[in-house]
Amino acid sequence: MTAPLDPEVLLELRGVDRTHGEGPAAVHALRGVDLTLRAGELVAVMGPSGSGKSTLLNIAGGLDSPTSGEVVVEGRALRSYGRSELARVRRRRLGFVFQDLNLIPTLTAAENVALPLELDGVRAREARTEALRSLDDVGTPHLADRFPDEMSGGQQQRVAIARALVGPRRVLLADEPTGALDSETGEEVLAVLRRRVDAGAGGLLVTHEPRHAAWADRVVFLRDGLVVDDGAARDRLAGLGEVAPA
Ligand code: ADP
Ligand code: MG
Repeated sequence: MTAPLDPEVLLELRGVDRTHGEGPAAVHALRGVDLTLRAGELVAVMGPSGSGKSTLLNIAGGLDSPTSGEVVVEGRALRSYGRSELARVRRRRLGFVFQDLNLIPTLTAAENVALPLELDGVRAREARTEALRSLDDVGTPHLADRFPDEMSGGQQQRVAIARALVGPRRVLLADEPTGALDSETGEEVLAVLRRRVDAGAGGLLVTHEPRHAAWADRVVFLRDGLVVDDGAARDRLAGLGEVAPA
Protein backbone atom coordinates (compact mmCIF):
# COMPACT_ATOMS: atom_id res chain seq x y z
CA MET A 1 0.00 0.00 0.00
CA THR A 2 1.28 3.44 -0.85
CA ALA A 3 -0.08 6.60 0.70
CA PRO A 4 -1.59 9.05 -1.81
CA LEU A 5 0.99 11.63 -2.86
CA ASP A 6 0.43 15.19 -1.77
CA PRO A 7 -0.42 16.96 -5.04
CA GLU A 8 2.45 19.06 -6.27
CA VAL A 9 2.58 22.61 -4.98
CA LEU A 10 2.80 24.99 -7.97
CA LEU A 11 2.56 28.35 -6.24
CA GLU A 12 3.05 29.56 -2.70
CA LEU A 13 2.61 32.99 -1.15
CA ARG A 14 4.19 33.21 2.29
CA GLY A 15 3.39 36.15 4.50
CA VAL A 16 3.02 38.49 1.54
CA ASP A 17 2.68 42.19 2.34
CA ARG A 18 2.37 44.92 -0.27
CA THR A 19 2.22 48.62 0.41
CA HIS A 20 1.60 50.88 -2.59
CA GLY A 21 3.04 54.39 -2.24
CA GLU A 22 4.62 56.03 0.78
CA GLY A 23 3.86 58.26 3.75
CA PRO A 24 0.30 59.41 4.39
CA ALA A 25 -0.76 58.26 0.89
CA ALA A 26 0.47 54.69 1.45
CA VAL A 27 -2.07 51.94 0.80
CA HIS A 28 -1.55 48.64 2.55
CA ALA A 29 -2.95 46.47 -0.26
CA LEU A 30 -1.98 43.04 1.13
CA ARG A 31 -1.34 42.08 4.74
CA GLY A 32 0.40 38.83 5.50
CA VAL A 33 -1.27 36.73 2.81
CA ASP A 34 -0.50 33.01 2.80
CA LEU A 35 -1.75 30.95 -0.11
CA THR A 36 -0.89 27.54 -1.55
CA LEU A 37 -1.95 26.41 -5.01
CA ARG A 38 -1.57 22.77 -5.97
CA ALA A 39 -1.71 20.95 -9.28
CA GLY A 40 -5.30 20.19 -10.15
CA GLU A 41 -6.65 23.07 -8.09
CA LEU A 42 -8.65 26.08 -9.27
CA VAL A 43 -8.90 28.70 -6.53
CA ALA A 44 -11.28 31.64 -6.80
CA VAL A 45 -10.25 34.94 -5.23
CA MET A 46 -13.19 37.10 -4.22
CA GLY A 47 -13.62 40.31 -2.28
CA PRO A 48 -14.86 43.87 -2.63
CA SER A 49 -13.31 46.35 -5.03
CA GLY A 50 -10.00 47.58 -3.61
CA SER A 51 -9.53 44.54 -1.36
CA GLY A 52 -6.23 43.60 -3.04
CA LYS A 53 -7.26 40.93 -5.56
CA SER A 54 -5.35 42.35 -8.53
CA THR A 55 -2.34 43.12 -6.35
CA LEU A 56 -2.37 39.50 -5.20
CA LEU A 57 -2.48 38.19 -8.77
CA ASN A 58 0.20 40.56 -10.03
CA ILE A 59 2.48 39.51 -7.20
CA ALA A 60 1.77 35.82 -7.78
CA GLY A 61 2.85 36.32 -11.39
CA GLY A 62 5.95 38.40 -10.74
CA LEU A 63 4.51 41.55 -12.33
CA ASP A 64 4.73 43.24 -8.92
CA SER A 65 6.88 42.39 -5.89
CA PRO A 66 5.94 41.99 -2.25
CA THR A 67 7.08 44.66 0.20
CA SER A 68 7.84 41.67 2.42
CA GLY A 69 7.19 37.95 2.24
CA GLU A 70 7.93 35.37 -0.40
CA VAL A 71 6.46 34.08 -3.65
CA VAL A 72 7.52 30.60 -4.74
CA VAL A 73 6.65 29.30 -8.22
CA GLU A 74 7.25 25.62 -8.93
CA GLY A 75 9.65 25.38 -6.03
CA ARG A 76 11.75 28.49 -6.60
CA ALA A 77 11.41 31.94 -5.03
CA LEU A 78 10.66 34.59 -7.65
CA ARG A 79 13.04 37.05 -6.01
CA SER A 80 15.92 34.67 -6.68
CA TYR A 81 15.56 35.32 -10.42
CA GLY A 82 17.27 38.14 -12.28
CA ARG A 83 15.19 40.46 -14.39
CA SER A 84 15.55 38.64 -17.71
CA GLU A 85 15.18 35.23 -16.06
CA LEU A 86 11.97 36.44 -14.44
CA ALA A 87 10.64 37.61 -17.80
CA ARG A 88 11.38 34.15 -19.14
CA VAL A 89 9.58 32.46 -16.24
CA ARG A 90 6.58 34.67 -16.95
CA ARG A 91 6.61 33.72 -20.63
CA ARG A 92 7.13 29.99 -20.04
CA ARG A 93 5.57 28.96 -16.74
CA LEU A 94 2.83 31.47 -16.05
CA GLY A 95 -0.34 32.11 -17.99
CA PHE A 96 -1.99 35.49 -17.43
CA VAL A 97 -5.53 36.17 -18.57
CA PHE A 98 -6.56 39.80 -18.23
CA GLN A 99 -9.59 41.71 -19.40
CA ASP A 100 -7.46 43.66 -21.83
CA LEU A 101 -7.15 42.02 -25.20
CA ASN A 102 -3.99 43.63 -26.53
CA LEU A 103 -3.72 41.44 -29.58
CA ILE A 104 -1.18 42.76 -32.05
CA PRO A 105 -3.24 44.10 -34.97
CA THR A 106 -0.70 43.26 -37.70
CA LEU A 107 -0.49 39.58 -36.71
CA THR A 108 -3.03 36.83 -37.38
CA ALA A 109 -4.64 34.95 -34.50
CA ALA A 110 -2.18 32.05 -34.88
CA GLU A 111 0.77 34.45 -35.03
CA ASN A 112 -0.44 36.30 -31.95
CA VAL A 113 -0.79 33.03 -30.04
CA ALA A 114 2.60 31.71 -31.22
CA LEU A 115 4.40 34.92 -30.26
CA PRO A 116 5.28 34.15 -26.62
CA LEU A 117 6.77 30.82 -27.71
CA GLU A 118 8.75 32.37 -30.55
CA LEU A 119 10.08 35.03 -28.17
CA ASP A 120 11.49 32.12 -26.23
CA GLY A 121 13.25 30.63 -29.21
CA VAL A 122 10.73 27.90 -30.04
CA ARG A 123 11.01 27.19 -33.77
CA ALA A 124 8.29 28.69 -35.96
CA ARG A 125 6.75 25.43 -37.06
CA GLU A 126 6.53 24.04 -33.53
CA ALA A 127 5.20 27.35 -32.22
CA ARG A 128 2.47 27.29 -34.87
CA THR A 129 1.51 23.73 -33.94
CA GLU A 130 1.21 24.73 -30.28
CA ALA A 131 -0.71 27.86 -31.25
CA LEU A 132 -3.23 25.87 -33.29
CA ARG A 133 -3.68 23.45 -30.39
CA SER A 134 -4.33 26.34 -28.04
CA LEU A 135 -6.81 27.97 -30.45
CA ASP A 136 -8.54 24.61 -30.69
CA ASP A 137 -8.72 24.50 -26.87
CA VAL A 138 -10.66 27.75 -26.75
CA GLY A 139 -12.94 26.68 -29.58
CA THR A 140 -11.57 28.96 -32.29
CA PRO A 141 -9.43 26.84 -34.65
CA HIS A 142 -11.17 28.44 -37.64
CA LEU A 143 -9.86 31.89 -36.71
CA ALA A 144 -6.18 30.99 -37.04
CA ASP A 145 -5.50 33.10 -40.13
CA ARG A 146 -7.71 36.06 -39.30
CA PHE A 147 -6.48 39.42 -38.13
CA PRO A 148 -7.89 40.97 -34.94
CA ASP A 149 -10.04 43.50 -36.84
CA GLU A 150 -11.71 40.57 -38.66
CA MET A 151 -12.96 39.11 -35.36
CA SER A 152 -15.69 40.02 -32.91
CA GLY A 153 -14.78 41.20 -29.40
CA GLY A 154 -15.63 37.79 -27.96
CA GLN A 155 -13.49 36.03 -30.57
CA GLN A 156 -10.57 38.37 -29.83
CA GLN A 157 -10.92 37.60 -26.13
CA ARG A 158 -10.77 33.87 -26.80
CA VAL A 159 -7.68 34.29 -28.95
CA ALA A 160 -6.10 36.35 -26.15
CA ILE A 161 -6.84 33.49 -23.77
CA ALA A 162 -5.35 30.98 -26.22
CA ARG A 163 -2.20 33.12 -26.22
CA ALA A 164 -2.15 33.42 -22.43
CA LEU A 165 -2.34 29.66 -22.04
CA VAL A 166 -0.25 28.47 -25.01
CA GLY A 167 2.39 25.82 -24.36
CA PRO A 168 3.02 23.78 -21.25
CA ARG A 169 2.61 26.53 -18.62
CA ARG A 170 1.05 25.28 -15.40
CA VAL A 171 0.35 28.31 -13.23
CA LEU A 172 -2.69 30.09 -14.64
CA LEU A 173 -3.68 33.52 -13.34
CA ALA A 174 -6.93 35.11 -14.45
CA ASP A 175 -8.09 38.54 -13.28
CA GLU A 176 -11.82 38.82 -13.97
CA PRO A 177 -11.28 37.21 -17.37
CA THR A 178 -14.97 37.18 -18.20
CA GLY A 179 -15.57 40.85 -17.51
CA ALA A 180 -15.84 41.93 -21.14
CA LEU A 181 -17.70 38.84 -22.36
CA ASP A 182 -21.28 37.81 -22.81
CA SER A 183 -22.25 35.13 -20.31
CA GLU A 184 -22.01 32.21 -22.74
CA THR A 185 -18.46 33.10 -23.84
CA GLY A 186 -17.60 33.79 -20.20
CA GLU A 187 -18.63 30.29 -19.19
CA GLU A 188 -16.56 28.84 -22.04
CA VAL A 189 -13.50 30.68 -20.79
CA LEU A 190 -14.03 29.18 -17.35
CA ALA A 191 -14.47 25.76 -18.91
CA VAL A 192 -11.11 26.18 -20.67
CA LEU A 193 -9.44 27.11 -17.38
CA ARG A 194 -11.10 24.18 -15.64
CA ARG A 195 -9.93 21.72 -18.33
CA ARG A 196 -6.34 22.93 -18.11
CA VAL A 197 -6.44 22.64 -14.32
CA ASP A 198 -7.92 19.15 -14.50
CA ALA A 199 -5.05 18.25 -16.86
CA GLY A 200 -2.50 19.19 -14.19
CA ALA A 201 -2.21 22.98 -14.05
CA GLY A 202 -3.21 25.17 -11.10
CA GLY A 203 -5.30 28.31 -11.43
CA LEU A 204 -6.09 31.49 -9.51
CA LEU A 205 -9.29 33.12 -10.73
CA VAL A 206 -10.31 36.58 -9.54
CA THR A 207 -14.03 37.00 -9.88
CA HIS A 208 -16.89 38.81 -8.19
CA GLU A 209 -19.52 36.41 -9.50
CA PRO A 210 -20.45 33.48 -7.24
CA ARG A 211 -21.64 31.65 -10.36
CA HIS A 212 -18.07 31.77 -11.70
CA ALA A 213 -16.48 30.97 -8.37
CA ALA A 214 -18.57 27.80 -8.40
CA TRP A 215 -16.12 26.45 -11.01
CA ALA A 216 -13.38 26.60 -8.37
CA ASP A 217 -12.35 23.99 -5.81
CA ARG A 218 -12.15 26.60 -3.09
CA VAL A 219 -12.57 30.31 -2.55
CA VAL A 220 -10.22 32.76 -0.88
CA PHE A 221 -11.99 35.88 0.39
CA LEU A 222 -10.01 39.11 0.74
CA ARG A 223 -11.01 42.17 2.69
CA ASP A 224 -8.69 45.17 3.09
CA GLY A 225 -5.74 43.01 2.04
CA LEU A 226 -6.44 40.26 4.55
CA VAL A 227 -7.57 36.74 3.80
CA VAL A 228 -10.77 36.58 5.81
CA ASP A 229 -11.89 33.15 4.73
CA ASP A 230 -10.43 30.27 2.80
CA GLY A 231 -12.84 27.42 2.44
CA ALA A 232 -14.49 24.96 0.14
CA ALA A 233 -16.28 26.78 -2.67
CA ARG A 234 -19.45 24.79 -2.39
CA ASP A 235 -19.84 25.30 1.36
CA ARG A 236 -19.17 28.98 1.10
CA LEU A 237 -21.47 29.53 -1.83
CA ALA A 238 -24.18 27.57 -0.08
CA GLY A 239 -23.71 30.00 2.81
CA LEU A 240 -24.20 32.91 0.41
CA GLY A 241 -27.45 31.43 -0.76
CA GLU A 242 -26.05 30.64 -4.21
CA VAL A 243 -26.63 27.37 -5.94
CA ALA A 244 -23.46 25.80 -7.27
CA PRO A 245 -23.83 23.75 -10.44
CA ALA A 246 -23.91 20.02 -9.88
P1 ADP B 1 -8.94 44.89 -6.30
O1 ADP B 1 -8.34 44.22 -7.50
O2 ADP B 1 -9.45 43.94 -5.27
O3 ADP B 1 -9.99 45.89 -6.68
P2 ADP B 1 -6.35 46.19 -6.04
O4 ADP B 1 -5.35 45.14 -5.76
O5 ADP B 1 -6.41 46.74 -7.42
O6 ADP B 1 -7.78 45.70 -5.54
O7 ADP B 1 -6.08 47.42 -5.06
C1 ADP B 1 -5.91 47.26 -3.66
C2 ADP B 1 -5.65 48.62 -3.05
O8 ADP B 1 -4.38 49.10 -3.48
C3 ADP B 1 -6.66 49.69 -3.46
O9 ADP B 1 -6.85 50.57 -2.36
C4 ADP B 1 -5.96 50.38 -4.61
O10 ADP B 1 -6.42 51.71 -4.71
C5 ADP B 1 -4.52 50.34 -4.18
N1 ADP B 1 -3.59 50.28 -5.32
C6 ADP B 1 -3.53 49.30 -6.26
N2 ADP B 1 -2.53 49.56 -7.13
C7 ADP B 1 -1.95 50.72 -6.74
C8 ADP B 1 -0.85 51.51 -7.21
N3 ADP B 1 -0.16 51.13 -8.29
N4 ADP B 1 -0.55 52.64 -6.53
C9 ADP B 1 -1.24 53.01 -5.44
N5 ADP B 1 -2.28 52.31 -4.92
C10 ADP B 1 -2.63 51.18 -5.56
MG1 MG C 1 -8.84 44.24 -9.54
